[in-house]
Amino acid sequence: MRLKDKVALITGAGSGIGWQTAQLFAREGASIVAVDINDKAGVACVVEINSSGGSAVYVRADVSRAVDCYNMIAAAEANFGKLDILFNNAGISHADDDDAINTSEAVWDLTMAVNVKGVFLGCKYGVPALQRAGGGSIINTASFVAVLGAATPQLAYTASKGAVLAMSRELAVIHAGENIRVNALCPGPLRTELLMKYLDTEEKKQRRLVHIPMGRFGEAEEIAKAALYLASDESSFVTGSTFLVDGGITAAYVTPE
Ligand code: NAD
Repeated sequence: MRLKDKVALITGAGSGIGWQTAQLFAREGASIVAVDINDKAGVACVVEINSSGGSAVYVRADVSRAVDCYNMIAAAEANFGKLDILFNNAGISHADDDDAINTSEAVWDLTMAVNVKGVFLGCKYGVPALQRAGGGSIINTASFVAVLGAATPQLAYTASKGAVLAMSRELAVIHAGENIRVNALCPGPLRTELLMKYLDTEEKKQRRLVHIPMGRFGEAEEIAKAALYLASDESSFVTGSTFLVDGGITAAYVTPE
């Protein structure tokens, strides 16, 4: 097992990448703190793990709130005695996020609060826990849009993921000497709820697929496997990376016919 005796906290564990990662990390031997604002989904994630022989607790936390982030980290140490892996994965993509002219301040502020401040607060309270554990791995979910612009704009989302990428690099440099690694996991377009509710017609889907050399959307399980590598000691020399798992989208100029 690749995460034997490790304790992992995963935000956004009720759905998509977070759900798949929680299940995979548990199968690999980690104890899981599953965090979400959707209690039903978060509890379901934990029930699935515990009924399959794993060990998990659910903690409700809105990652944009400092007190919630403090409490989720405290819950990890209270339940399992330490924290080794912090996966700041929760994020939102607002339906009304658009270009600079049409994006409201409210949508901008909400997106920044969850996607950027949420990662900051996770680290603010999580880094001291990793220090107490003697080191660990932080994985922050950014996106391929942190390095590529799209003509189908989601300006607040894109800016927020750029911030996560830059923040992850700096955290990696600051904490490199403390045995704490920090990487930005950058998924390409995935066949998850978050993207599919936005690409709600076949035409919109095809408009995106044409840019992906592999010709398909990624699966949340494929991102979970990348997270497993970054969480485990197999990636012991990997820190500060822009870890793209994107079907080649950022490598492409012209895609295959
Ligand atoms: P998802 O919508 O399936 O799951 C996100 C989960 O986060 C949900 O369970 C939701 O309840 C939870 N959440 C939302 N706001 C929260 C908050 N304030 N506090 C705590 N939990 C909260 O999304 P996903 O596709 O699994 O995306 C996970 C991450 O991956 C996000 O950061 C997203 O931006 C990023 N990402 C997704 C894609 C994609 O195509 N789906 C691509 C690149 C990056």
